Amino acid sequence: STIPKIVILGAGYGGILTAQRLQKELNYNEADVTLVNRHDYHYFTTHLHMPAAGTDSIEHTRVPISKLIDEFKIDLVKSTVREVRLSDRKVILEDGTLSYDYLVIALGGEPETFGIPGMEEHAFTIRSINSVRMIRQHIEYQFALYKTDESRKDRLNFVVGGAGFSGIEFVAELADRIPRLCRENDVEPSKVHIYNIEAAPSALPGFDPELVEHAMNVLEKKGVNFKLGTAIQECRPDGVVLDTGETIKTATVVWTGGIRGNRIIEASGFETVRGRVKVDETLRAPGMENVFIIGDNSLMFNPEGRPYPPTAQIAMQQGVVCAKNIVAAIRGGASRPFEFVNKGTVASLGKGEAIAVVGDKKMTGWKAVQLKKLVDLRYLFIIGGIPLVLKKGRFL
Ligand code: FAD
Ligand code: NAD
Repeated sequence: STIPKIVILGAGYGGILTAQRLQKELNYNEADVTLVNRHDYHYFTTHLHMPAAGTDSIEHTRVPISKLIDEFKIDLVKSTVREVRLSDRKVILEDGTLSYDYLVIALGGEPETFGIPGMEEHAFTIRSINSVRMIRQHIEYQFALYKTDESRKDRLNFVVGGAGFSGIEFVAELADRIPRLCRENDVEPSKVHIYNIEAAPSALPGFDPELVEHAMNVLEKKGVNFKLGTAIQECRPDGVVLDTGETIKTATVVWTGGIRGNRIIEASGFETVRGRVKVDETLRAPGMENVFIIGDNSLMFNPEGRPYPPTAQIAMQQGVVCAKNIVAAIRGGASRPFEFVNKGTVASLGKGEAIAVVGDKKMTGWKAVQLKKLVDLRYLFIIGGIPLVLKKGRFL
């Protein structure tokens, strides 16, 4: 047929928004849309720190993709993408190939380990439902082992590498979980140590200093030990080596030291910076009229020339513009430039605490916690309306 084929790779924040907007804006038989994702569910990457620590369930963190799209209008292909073959407009899957006229790459990022020896082999990462399931069970197992295995007394040391937003949000949840794990496993709470190690001189480098201090105070009260201005140099099966020469013995290292673009992008021949493609203002890969890259795999600069951080907020906004620009291309209309509207930043600090910046307003405590809930509910509403809000929303 002559109907254009649109293939979307990845059903995360960027991919779902693109698919939903295409579904809404395209007329019957105007295009064939295929959405490819490794799993048949969409997960809330922004919530993964909770099931990782065991303070929320996996079921609260994901939703079947079939509940988010109309499968009469969009073909859902559950498969893993291996490579994009730009020269013949094909996507190579683990179990087949797809050809496209328009391609949207929204595969999300990958942990960046900066080549730190042992990090890839021995550390956990907060990356997907499958990866956080491992973290949760591993932590629980360390508590269970502590009572029976006298050989290692360091099992209750937990090391988190990197105090960016992911690291901070995770240590907060972990600290909240510890009292309960101690009770269930008859462990004296003073035996447990959480270390958050950060190479930069401050936690949350670049964020508002007053709010950073608030966050540190809250987390230190919850029992987190910070080591700032200290880089992890090596990760071993029995602990981490720091650039101070010190080692911390542990059976649990969670690496939140940064993310990079998906390796599939560079393997497919795109020019990348830390795995991300510098896209033009219409979200197209350089020189490619029919390939769009959004979310954590795209690199864009703000008017001051600084790169936007990879966030769900920007991925969602890009998804909307990407869909519009594909529809415009099919209809022979003009593309719209992407302009980021910063709605603010909110980070959870576990039960009862959070920090937020919205415009020039700073918030902490109850207000910031409510705002975080609102942001989460808003997302559920955008992608799934009231039914999803009722099903997956957390109101308390
Ligand atoms: P993703 O949402 O990661 O989606 C990628 C999708 O592609 C996934 O469904 C994945 O399964 C699929 N996929 C990957 N590889 C393949 C493959 N080879 N084949 C098929 N499918 C594949 N940002 C905010 O704005 N606010 C927050 O509060 C916030 N909190 C965060 C908390 C944590 C703990 C973390 C880790 C991140 C947080 N972020 C937050 C960042 C945000 O989650 C990411 O920027 C966002 O998820 C990027 O969206 P994306 O669409 O690019 O990719
Ligand atoms: P990040 O890159 O923001 O932070 C990684 C941290 O690890 C940095 O502070 C870095 O200095 C540190 N680090 C790097 N190497 C180290 C080493 N060898 N030893 C010790 N520390 C080291 O990564 P992230 O926290 O995963 O965040 C990724 C993206 O997701 C960011 O854009 C962030 O804004 C976004 N995010 C947002 C939220 C939120 O808004 N609530 C939550 C999580 C993530």
